[in-house]
Amino acid sequence: VIHLEDIRKSYFIGKNELPVLKGVTLDILKNEYVALMGPSGSGKSTLMNILGALDTPTSGKYILSGHDVSRMEDNELARIRNQEIGFVFQQFNLMPRLSALENVAVPLIYAGIGKKEREEKARHMLERVGLGDRYKHKPNELSGGQCQRVAIARALVNDPSLILADEPTGNLDTKTSVEIMEIFGRIHASGNTVVLVTHEEDIADHAHRVIRLRDGVMESDKLNPVKSLAH
Ligand code: ATP
Ligand code: MG
Repeated sequence: VIHLEDIRKSYFIGKNELPVLKGVTLDILKNEYVALMGPSGSGKSTLMNILGALDTPTSGKYILSGHDVSRMEDNELARIRNQEIGFVFQQFNLMPRLSALENVAVPLIYAGIGKKEREEKARHMLERVGLGDRYKHKPNELSGGQCQRVAIARALVNDPSLILADEPTGNLDTKTSVEIMEIFGRIHASGNTVVLVTHEEDIADHAHRVIRLRDGVMESDKLNPVKSLAH
C-alpha cells in the first residue's frame, strides 16, 4: 500500500533549515499493523503527517495505493486524504459545536453523500465503536475515551484502506487505552492497514511490526515474533 523512498523533510524558520526526516525508505504492505516508536522530537509526527497527506516531504517519493502523493497539488491531496486515509490524533480534534453523529458525518459531506445516508452511516460507525447511545452528545458531554471513539468512527466512516493514529491513547488512562487498542485490533482484523505512533511498549505489542525512528532516520524495523506468527 505504502512505498516511501528517501523521504526528507526540513522545516524552515526564517532562513534556518531544520532537517527533521533525513532519508526514510520504507514499504508498508496491505493489512500490516505497524507501531512507530522513537524519542520525542525524532520525527514521528512529521512522518505521520506526510503519510496522512497533511504535509508534503521536502524531497523523496511517497506512493500510496499507486498514487504518487509526493507530486500532488493541494486539491488532490485533500481528495486522497478523504478517500484513502483515516487519521486519529492524540487530541481527538473533534468539532466542539457538533454532536458525535455530526462529527462522524463530516468526511461524508466532503465525499458528497446526502444527509440521510450520512446519518445512517455515522450512526452505524458509532455503534461499531460502542457509542450507539451517545450520538446526540457533544464532545464536552463525553469522556476522553468516548471522544477518541468518536474520532475513530470519523476516521473509519469513509472506509479508508489506511488508518493512521498519532498517539491515540496519549491522553487516556490505562483501562481506556486498552479499550481503544481493542478497537484498533478489530479495525486491523477487518482488513485495514494500521500505522500507530506510541511511546508505550505495551501498546506497541499489539502491532506485528515495530519501526523505531531516531533523529530523523530509521533505527530499526522488526517483526513482532508473537503477533507475526499469529498471522
Ligand atoms: P513527540 O514524541 O514529542 O510527539 P515526534 O517524534 O512526533 O515527537 P515531531 O513532532 O515530528 O516529533 O518533531 C520533530 C522535530 O521537528 C522537532 O524538533 C520539532 O521541534 C520540529 N517541528 C515539528 N513540527 C514543526 C513545524 N511545524 N515547524 C518547525 N519545526 C517543527
Ligand atoms: Mg509526535
